Amino acid sequence: MMTHFDVVVVGGGHAGTEAAAAAARTGAAVALVTHSRDTVGVMSCNPAIGGLGKGHLVREIDALGGLMGQAADRGGIQFRLLNRRKGPAVQGPRAQADRKLYRAAVQDLLFAIPNLTIVEQEVSDLSIADGSVAGVYLSDGRELNCGAVVLTTGTFLRGLIHIGERSFSAGRMGDPAANDLSLRLMSENFRLGRLKTGTPARLNGRTIDYASLGVQPGDDEPIAFSYLTKEITTPQIACYVTRTVEKTHKIIRDNIHKSAMYSGKIEGTGPRYCPSIEDKISRFGDRDGHQIFLEPEGLDVDTVYPNGISTSLPEDVQDAYIRSIPGLEQVEIEQYGYAIEYDYIDPTELKSTLETKRIGGLYFAGQINGTTGYEEAGAQGLMAGLNAARQCGGQEGVTLSRSDAYIGVMIDDLITKGVAEPYRMFTSRAEYRLSLRADNADQRLTEKADEWGLISEERRAVFADKKAEMAAITALAMEKNLTPNEAEQYDLRINKDGQRRSVYEFLAYPDLDLARLKQIWPEFGSFSAAAQKQLEIEALYQVYMKRQTSDIETFKKDEALEIPAALNFAEINGLSNELKQKLAHIRPQTLGQASRIDGMTPAALTLVLAHSKRVS
Ligand code: FAD
Repeated sequence: MMTHFDVVVVGGGHAGTEAAAAAARTGAAVALVTHSRDTVGVMSCNPAIGGLGKGHLVREIDALGGLMGQAADRGGIQFRLLNRRKGPAVQGPRAQADRKLYRAAVQDLLFAIPNLTIVEQEVSDLSIADGSVAGVYLSDGRELNCGAVVLTTGTFLRGLIHIGERSFSAGRMGDPAANDLSLRLMSENFRLGRLKTGTPARLNGRTIDYASLGVQPGDDEPIAFSYLTKEITTPQIACYVTRTVEKTHKIIRDNIHKSAMYSGKIEGTGPRYCPSIEDKISRFGDRDGHQIFLEPEGLDVDTVYPNGISTSLPEDVQDAYIRSIPGLEQVEIEQYGYAIEYDYIDPTELKSTLETKRIGGLYFAGQINGTTGYEEAGAQGLMAGLNAARQCGGQEGVTLSRSDAYIGVMIDDLITKGVAEPYRMFTSRAEYRLSLRADNADQRLTEKADEWGLISEERRAVFADKKAEMAAITALAMEKNLTPNEAEQYDLRINKDGQRRSVYEFLAYPDLDLARLKQIWPEFGSFSAAAQKQLEIEALYQVYMKRQTSDIETFKKDEALEIPAALNFAEINGLSNELKQKLAHIRPQTLGQASRIDGMTPAALTLVLAHSKRVS
């Protein structure tokens, strides 16, 4: 076996696969070390990709040449565009996936990339020399040497599973925890914390009484994640919906003291936006019951994932409360729900490239950084893998800013503010969400990805075609126009101000769409449906975009003001001790980043700017 690589990626989850793929695509020799080749791409919890905010991340990963979008398109068995009734900027593509198909798709895509070696082992230690990482030690005693390491160990660092009063060490159900690595990171003085997450029981679908339940179909026309997918060919299925009832709530209330979370056994903080059923009952009450989506885990398996009832109650209580739910009276449980507590590393330990500040060449990505979710993990993995490979090749690190991508928003949030609870993406986290849309991720990112060596010939060609088509349809929309009098002849009601208005302008009217305007100008019908849709979105947002563009310009000015690495914040007179400490710990790279540190004031920023100018 080869023992020298440019980049070693530790962990074959969602961050690890994207990290390995990105690094190898740029030409680096990459080893992906993970417990088992077979579990590469496994979905630990819910069999679904995307959703609000998360769907944007998947599109961005795809636009940057990542795997997740294509894998979700191949494995997706129910596609739904969430928030369909709201504006396109906040709509979230989501697909429920067949677990096996999704995993197989990740493996197919990943294993086909040249320069990538899969090593089935556990990494037990890091080799560090002169403040930089030099390799990893495997648990069989071998050492792999490398220029950079990306750690993507998910929930495995000192992972501890809880079911009722029972607790045992595990990285997730059926997999060993990574304890040695955690201790090593502690000994290097990394700031570690504890977080927790949970998963519901898995049910045998053949024992569910569907007759009494509501059906939730997917979209008639599935919308793919990947810009490369021409058509979704995997068969599509429906999900079912049920609710908890008073009897369910009583069982949970009566037994809440047996829940690992409520008995004081768990010290880690859980995801606020993905609460356990115990949390829902105690925090949000139980008046109308809590909705549960019954999601089949695949096309050829009977297992059903009951989305909305994750728990750490003991098995007998899970039996009782689950069977109190309509449709589940006779249900057989295939695997009980559980909570898992794990170590994460305070992400303010990281630079914007996801390299640690303490140890050169060591990168962290995914759940290890305090995030939750496959999409958040994958997006970080891609950026960490790319930067690790660039470092080995002697190239400068690259980043995405808050105005480029949701990925930029997430990484900036993590490294500037840290996390107090598992971090998940929401559209509300992005200031510039009118321009950071899921539909235009390729227009925002694919050219950058090409420059960084991340994309294939196929993607380059698909993007060039789309760009040319958008330029042509936009030019036509700018060219075709009517005066108010001419418009009236077509029954279009607009201000009688004598102004000619183009199709582009008409499309900003809330009651006008391209379907209507094609009755006047049928030539728009010769463009692809995707181009027509995107023209409508861009035209609709044009007025707001102008305003946002000027906000982005102001933002970019602050981002361009770099704070010299040599600046000693302790020497800045007039700064409070608290701010001096925060600045010294976070070491913001730009004035913009400094402005987002909690507690920062305009006066303090002025001082930092003045000192930056003096030092540089
Ligand atoms: P993972 O997907 O966990 O992958 C880690 C990989 O690292 C694995 O392949 C493992 O084998 C490997 N590994 C670990 N240590 C070592 C080592 N020392 N050497 C070699 N390989 C190693 N997310 C949500 O969004 N919502 C939820 O409700 C939710 N619930 C969850 C419930 C549970 C019980 C679990 C376990 C996870 C849950 N998640 C949830 C989180 C979701 O699974 C993760 O966010 C996502 O998988 C993180 O991806 P990752 O790549 O960081 O880590």
